[in-house]
Amino acid sequence: MVQSLPEMPDKAGYFGEYGGQIIPPELKAVMDKISDAYEEVRKTQAFQDELQELYAYYVGRPSPVYYARRLTERQGGARIFLKREDLNHTGAHKINHCLGQALLARFMGKTKVLAETGAGQHGVALATACALVGIPCEIHMGVVDMKKERPNVTKMQILGATMVPVTRGTQTLKDAVDSAFDEYIKDPVNFLYAIGSAVGPHPFPKMVRDFQSIIGKEAREQFLAREKRLPDMVVACVGGGSNAIGMFTEFLPDEAVRLVGVEPAGKGLDTPDNAATMSLGRKGVLHGYRCYALQDENGNTLPVYSIASGLDYPGVGPQHCYLRDIGRVQYEAVTDDECLDAFLTLSRVEGIIPALESAHAVAYAMKVAKEMDPDKAILVNLSGRGDKDADFVAGKLAL
Ligand SMILES: *Cc1c(COP(=O)(O)O)cnc(C)c1O
Repeated sequence: MVQSLPEMPDKAGYFGEYGGQIIPPELKAVMDKISDAYEEVRKTQAFQDELQELYAYYVGRPSPVYYARRLTERQGGARIFLKREDLNHTGAHKINHCLGQALLARFMGKTKVLAETGAGQHGVALATACALVGIPCEIHMGVVDMKKERPNVTKMQILGATMVPVTRGTQTLKDAVDSAFDEYIKDPVNFLYAIGSAVGPHPFPKMVRDFQSIIGKEAREQFLAREKRLPDMVVACVGGGSNAIGMFTEFLPDEAVRLVGVEPAGKGLDTPDNAATMSLGRKGVLHGYRCYALQDENGNTLPVYSIASGLDYPGVGPQHCYLRDIGRVQYEAVTDDECLDAFLTLSRVEGIIPALESAHAVAYAMKVAKEMDPDKAILVNLSGRGDKDADFVAGKLAL
C-alpha cells in the first residue's frame, strides 16, 4: 500500500506549520513529560489490552455501521451509511478519548483530572471515565451554562465529580477554560488537564486522535466486509475535530475516498453568528497551538455561535488545518436550519435522534447524496445521540 502521507505530527508536535507547543517554558516541560509518558505507555501490551477491553465491554464497541435505507430512498442518489457512535456508553464518541486520558493519568500517578465544559458533554464523559478508573475529577463550568444544562450538571455530580461554578466574565465556556487553567497551573505536575478534543498543545492533538482512531479502523473494516469495497465519501462534523480525525485517519491513504469535514455555518457565513473556522478563519495561535482561528487582525478571538454547542469553538485541530491545506480533506459549512432539517428527518425517517452536532454531517450527506449516482456510497460518522437536544429542538420548532 502506498503511504502517501508522512507520519504526523513531528517530534515537536507539528502537522506542517500547525500545532506545536506555543506555551511558557515551565508548561512545555510538563507537556513533554505527558508526551513521554504517553509514548511509553501506549507501547505496552497491558495498556492496549486494558483500553481495548474497555472499548469492547464498557463502551460497547464496535459500534455498528448501519445502512440508512429509508433516508437513502427519500433523498435519492448515493446510499447513506451511519457509523453509530451514538450507541456508545454515554451517547457519543467523547468517551473514547476520555478513557484513554484517564488511564494515562493513572499511569502517571496524577492526583486529579480537571477540565472545563460548555454544554457538559465533555464533563460527563470525563466524570464517567474518572469514576471508572478511580481518579478525582474536577469540572469547571460557567454558571450560565450550569443553569442551561442542568441534567448534565446533575449527572456529573452523581458520577462523583467536583463541580466548580465559574462566575467570572460571561460565565460561559471561555471563562470556564480560564478558571480550569488557573487551577491546573497551581500544580501541573500532579494534575492532568484533560482536553476535550483534538486541540491544544502537543501531545493532545495526537493523543486524542490516536484514541479516537478506533472509529475509522472499525468503520473501514466493517464497510469492506459488508460492501466488498470502500465508501466513495466519508463525512464527519468538525468542532475541535476529534470525531472527524478519528473517522478520517484510517482512510487517509485511500486516495479514492473523499473526506469531508462539516463545520457550523450557524445563521449564515455572511452573518457574525457562525463558527466556520475553516471557511472564515485566519492562521493564528489559540490555546497553546497554531491553527486556523476566528480572530481579528490583532489575534483577539471573535465570539462564535452554533446551534450545536459542541461545535462552537473558535479554532480547529492542527491536523485538520494541515489536511485542508494539502487538499486531502475538504471542509464544508452547514447552517442551523439545514441542521434542524436533518435532525428531524433522520428522527422521523430512521427513528434515530442525532445530536445537533452530528446532524451537521447528516445534513451535508443528505444534500450531496442527491447529486451522486445510486451506486455510490457515503459513510457518515454519527458522533452522538440527540437526547440532550430533544427539548431544545421541540421548543424551537414548536412541535
Ligand atoms: C463534542 C461533540 C462534537 C464536537 O467535537 P469534535 O471534537 O469536533 O468531535 C461532535 N459531536 C458530538 C456528539 C459531541 O458531543
